[in-house]
Amino acid sequence: MDGRAADCGGLASDVLVITCEHGGNRIPAPYRNLFHAHQALLDSHRGYDPGALIMARELATAFAAPLVASTVSRLLVDLNRSVGHPRLHSEATRKAPAEVRQQILKHYYQPYRAQAERFVRQAIADHGLVIHLSSHSFTPELDAKVRDADIGLLYDPARPGEADLCERWKASLEACAPDLTVRRNYPYAGKGDGLTAWFRRRLPAGAYVGIELEVNQKHVVRAGRHWTAMRKVIVESLCRALASRCAGISDPTTKTARASSLRWRSAGAPP
Ligand SMILES: [Zn+2]
Repeated sequence: MDGRAADCGGLASDVLVITCEHGGNRIPAPYRNLFHAHQALLDSHRGYDPGALIMARELATAFAAPLVASTVSRLLVDLNRSVGHPRLHSEATRKAPAEVRQQILKHYYQPYRAQAERFVRQAIADHGLVIHLSSHSFTPELDAKVRDADIGLLYDPARPGEADLCERWKASLEACAPDLTVRRNYPYAGKGDGLTAWFRRRLPAGAYVGIELEVNQKHVVRAGRHWTAMRKVIVESLCRALASRCAGISDPTTKTARASSLRWRSAGAPP
């Protein structure tokens, strides 16, 4: 990790929380019988988000931020869907007995959401603000349609703090790596159902900033130095975006100046 990101981590770690809902394609032993006919699906982009877990870990390390990550497949239960959503369970688990689905929720869904909520509420209690980053990746082609972005930043356009940070992050990504195509609310709309939307329903816009990072899996597949460099660019550009945001709202002439951002500044943030 280079010095810049490490320095920035010291400034941002208080308010950042990293999560990774689709980090792996593991099926716990008691439920493997439900997946005998679904191994190919488990290994596909439907089973997990390749690259999302290492990306989440590197973000958490760089910013010394708490991380909540799952390596259980979204095909068991999708941690990025609300209870009651038709795609909470996949074709492999949807027809399982109700008590089995309840058990899955109790052991794999509720503890994950509870842990994420603890970290999010702790940051708000301590600093009046949380910036929650949820790490994902997307398949380069879906339904015979090629997706023309390298990175997507998903947010709710009605939440000014989210729009502002995504604008800054997009700009810093493009400055760090001009060859990358960065799109906002692509390939999905940020305000759709998910963990960030669940938090938005519970927490005010001034306290909760939730962003989903979506990385095109074609970069994960290339692996090696390319993928390593890409992750470094994502960390570095976020560091710059947070620093510029911090500087912006620490300006005493800005009426939205917050106690937490002033505290960052007093801790050594650039003005
Ligand atoms: Zn995902």
